[in-house]
Amino acid sequence: MQRPSSELIRLPLLALLALTLLAGCSRGQPAAVYQHATIDALMTGVYDGNLRCDDLLAHGDFGIGTFDALDGEMVVLDGVVHQVRFDGSVHPVAGAVTTPFATVCRFHPDQACALPAGTDFPALEQLVNARQGRPNLFCALRVHGRFATMKTRSVPRQARPYPPLAEVAKGQAVFTMQEVSGTIVGFRCPAFVKGVNVPGYHLHFLSDDRRQGGHILAFTLAEGGAELMTLSALHLDLPAGSGGFQGADLGQDRSADLHRIESDRK
Ligand SMILES: [Zn+2]
Repeated sequence: MQRPSSELIRLPLLALLALTLLAGCSRGQPAAVYQHATIDALMTGVYDGNLRCDDLLAHGDFGIGTFDALDGEMVVLDGVVHQVRFDGSVHPVAGAVTTPFATVCRFHPDQACALPAGTDFPALEQLVNARQGRPNLFCALRVHGRFATMKTRSVPRQARPYPPLAEVAKGQAVFTMQEVSGTIVGFRCPAFVKGVNVPGYHLHFLSDDRRQGGHILAFTLAEGGAELMTLSALHLDLPAGSGGFQGADLGQDRSADLHRIESDRK
């Protein structure tokens, strides 16, 4: 059967349009944060891992999170997933290990700056806010340097029935390092992500020798610099299986608990 002539014309035009759009997308696609599950689900005790780390790495080479059964703090740096356990030990993680909550991106910084000696957590926040200047977008940040002090924490692996994160955090291990070189890996999320991710700054640390790290509570920089990447898209994956996520009560405002858990800068 002969096609109508208009269709004969339209097909090549559509193909051309599709190619143009594809080319445009690959060039102009907004840099995206990839997130698995939500912070409030974690807060309520949804700790069962349901995304493999090798699948997580398909979405980014840089980021933070935790592991199945809340087994320590995750630091993803240069495409390697590291686990900082409750005992302070640091291990590269096998691809089959799973996570209940993680945030990653493909890190391509769009700006860099040296940081003054003595920069601490609040000063870094101010500096990044001023430099990046877009509080309603996401910002990935990597700070490499030598730290006069670095205070981190990790959490113990949990057993079912899982207690809420506020309970677990009371028994967290705190690590105080001095004169340590390493990398801060993390994100600043907009205020409106409340319930989904951590509004404001959420930073993890990994030492250059890969032997220390954790969720950052406080630090003082001796020398170093920051690299920033603005991200204007969020790819949110939710656990679709029949695990704890489906039954979690995610209707409450858990901001006050979250603030207490994430920081000791009150
Ligand atoms: Zn953390």
